[in-house]
Amino acid sequence: MTRSFDCPTCGTDDDVYGTRVDDDRIMLRCERCAAEWPRDETQRCATCSGTDISTVPRAVLAGGRATVQSIVGRQDVPVCAVCDREAVETYTLRGHALPPGHITAASQPRDTHDERE
Ligand SMILES: [Zn+2]
Ligand SMILES: [Zn+2]
Repeated sequence: MTRSFDCPTCGTDDDVYGTRVDDDRIMLRCERCAAEWPRDETQRCATCSGTDISTVPRAVLAGGRATVQSIVGRQDVPVCAVCDREAVETYTLRGHALPPGHITAASQPRDTHDERE
């Protein structure tokens, strides 16, 4: 894994080291200026920046043709508990995969203005 992390204090990414502190948290430390900060590993919703993200399957089509027969597999996509609630309730809570090509709000910012409840 070669993600680089920029120090929020001095901006370098050359001397930044991660240290696992709890089971699931990593503290980053900059050796240049001694700053420490937690690594944000939380996946966030692209639409609302919420952190209640889960993963659901989405159907994958062969050749991009939208017929039921051409579904060849499933692919996991992130969903937001808030923004994608409707899709999750409609499909995955009933044991279905999301329809092919369904873009979840968690993976791409969605214009929420035309979605009123
Ligand atoms: Zn630094
Ligand atoms: Zn959201």
